[in-house]
Amino acid sequence: MAFNAADKESIEECIISGFIIIFAYRKHMTDTLTHIQRHYCMSQVRSSNTKPEIELRHALWLRGFRYRINDPRLPGKPDVLLPKYRTALFVHGCFWHGHLGCKRYTVPKTNLDYWEAKVARNKQRDEEVWRQLEAKGWSVVIVWECEIDKKEFHKTMDRVVSEIISNGNMYQKRVQERKMIREQRQAERRAQKERYEAFQKEQWSRKV
Ligand SMILES: [Zn+2]
Repeated sequence: MAFNAADKESIEECIISGFIIIFAYRKHMTDTLTHIQRHYCMSQVRSSNTKPEIELRHALWLRGFRYRINDPRLPGKPDVLLPKYRTALFVHGCFWHGHLGCKRYTVPKTNLDYWEAKVARNKQRDEEVWRQLEAKGWSVVIVWECEIDKKEFHKTMDRVVSEIISNGNMYQKRVQERKMIREQRQAERRAQKERYEAFQKEQWSRKV
């Protein structure tokens, strides 16, 4: 079978575009997630009312702590908010928030860059939320999901409770200090007013 020049050209074009399609497809495959990875990814998305969160809240409730859940008025909508102790508590998934040294934080072997970038972004966001909360006078307590495991639970609760109480004490101290400063200023203003009134009275009596 003989080809003329025009046929040859179109065949070449066809082969080249075929290569381009294959190349683009392969690139597409490596850029996007496989079905299993996507499923894993979705299962790791942080949602409120996860099992560890509920367990932790329940344990706090039994110990007499009262709290608010996912208050949207605060940065990061803390999982547990204890206004009396000025403490915001977050329960972090070990994978999603990159718990260093934890066996639950194992980056999948494929698409390493993608996962690492994703976890790094989450960590950055977490730090930003902590900064914002601290700027508003809130103390932040982090509980990792692996710490809510049966074996670790009591130890974790002891740690969490002691942090909450010490945050509460710090907060009360700050409140007391602010109250003292306010009272001092009021006393100063009162004294100033009294001095001024006394002065005016004296001036008046001289005129008379
Ligand atoms: Zn962990």
